[in-house]
Amino acid sequence: MTQPIIEINHVSYRYEKENVLEDINLTINSGDFLGIVGPNGSGKSTLLKLILNLLKVQKGSIKLFGQEISRFKDWQNIGFVSQKANSFNTGFPATVFEVVSSGLTKKLGLFKFMSKADQATVLHAIESVGMHEFAGRNIGELSGGQQQRVFIARALVSEPKLLILDEPTVGVDVKNVQSFYEMLDDLNKKLGITLLLVTHDIGTISDKVTHVACLNKNLHFHGNTAEFESLNINEMSEIYGHDVHVLTHNHDHHDHHHHDKGAGR
Ligand code: ADP
Repeated sequence: MTQPIIEINHVSYRYEKENVLEDINLTINSGDFLGIVGPNGSGKSTLLKLILNLLKVQKGSIKLFGQEISRFKDWQNIGFVSQKANSFNTGFPATVFEVVSSGLTKKLGLFKFMSKADQATVLHAIESVGMHEFAGRNIGELSGGQQQRVFIARALVSEPKLLILDEPTVGVDVKNVQSFYEMLDDLNKKLGITLLLVTHDIGTISDKVTHVACLNKNLHFHGNTAEFESLNINEMSEIYGHDVHVLTHNHDHHDHHHHDKGAGR
């Protein structure tokens, strides 16, 4: 039976006078792999912050695992990889194993010894993202896409049921986006983790997702992948409020200098 993991009901949000989110209704069920797409400024981060309880719900309601968010306590069931996860690496000498182990600190406290079971959990997380050959490597030596995999592994060590990813394909070389999505597909299908990702880049959304939601202050579309693909270019442009051709070919911000060698499967 499908269990609702996130239930967003009639949620609106404003920082100042104007709503940046308006009457959002969205349910994410157990086993879903949902991609939320929307241009910059469309409210994606605001929505994630509301789901993560970093902003307070002003209007409407959000339930997590069937519980009103204000009463929700099982945050270890929710893994989050922020867009800023990448700043971890700059000049910071740490191996992949160490970075992923730092995901255990909530449970362990800093500087406690890792048990054999904890070590196995860390190695399993590293394996789940296809980075087992790199466990001893310095995080700074890896490509953007490989680093992103490591940050996902760090989120996986607390064995979340729901994993939320903010713009995970930024920094992933265009030619590796497909294998990156295959890794996410494995987490979804093999480990049974419900996945929610947001991206401004409609061109990188993959058919690996099971559902797509299009956000631009309002939720303009929510459906399965087939329904999303059957939207025509005019409907897309309306959702985006821009010419979609420009958006789908805008890969300039991606990292072209590194390769995800070995991280693919
Ligand atoms: P996205 O993640 O899709 O780029 P955001 O949720 O960051 O969109 O922003 C949605 C809107 O809210 C934008 O117009 C942005 O300028 C505005 N906004 C975001 N954060 C704040 C804030 N702290 N104070 C005021 N306005 C904000």
